Amino acid sequence: MADQCPFCSIASGSSSASMVYEDNNVLAFMDLNPISVGHVLIVSREHWENLYEVPEETLGELIAVVKRVAIAVKKTVGADGIKIIQNNGRCAGQVVMHIHFHVVPCFSQKGTKRYGRVMENRNVLDEMAQKIRKNL
Ligand code: AMP
Ligand code: ZN
Repeated sequence: MADQCPFCSIASGSSSASMVYEDNNVLAFMDLNPISVGHVLIVSREHWENLYEVPEETLGELIAVVKRVAIAVKKTVGADGIKIIQNNGRCAGQVVMHIHFHVVPCFSQKGTKRYGRVMENRNVLDEMAQKIRKNL
C-alpha cells in the first residue's frame, strides 16, 4: 500500500467507494467525477503505478474484470458504446498514480446522460453500483 494513494485507501477500506465488484486482486467502483452516467474504474488491489509496472498476471485479471464490467455497464445504462481509457504518466492525463482502467459509457445522441466531470452524490453512485452489480 502506498501512502497518500486514494485507491490504496479504498482497497484497504479506509476510504469509501461505491463498489461494483471486488475479489482478492481487483476492485471496481464508481468514478467520483464521472465522464458519463455509469463511469466505473477497475483497479488492482495492490499498488502498481502504471502499465509498465503491473505484473502480466495482474493485468490479465484486470482486463477480465474490465470486460465483465463493460458488458454490465452497457446493459445497465443502455449505452450505445463503451470507451476504455487507461492513462500512464501525467502527460497522458494520469492523475491517480495507481493503475486503473476507465469504463466509460458512450451515447449516440450527444448531450444525453452526460455529466461532464462534476462530483456526483454518493447516494446516486451507490444506487448505480447496485444496478450494475445485478447485471454482472
Ligand atoms: P486518471 O486521470 O486516469 O488518473 O483518472 C483518475 C480518476 O479517478 C478520475 O476520473 C477521478 O474522478 C477518479 N477518482 C479520484 N479519486 C477517486 C475516489 N476517491 N473515488 C472514485 N473515483 C476517484
Ligand atoms: Zn495505490
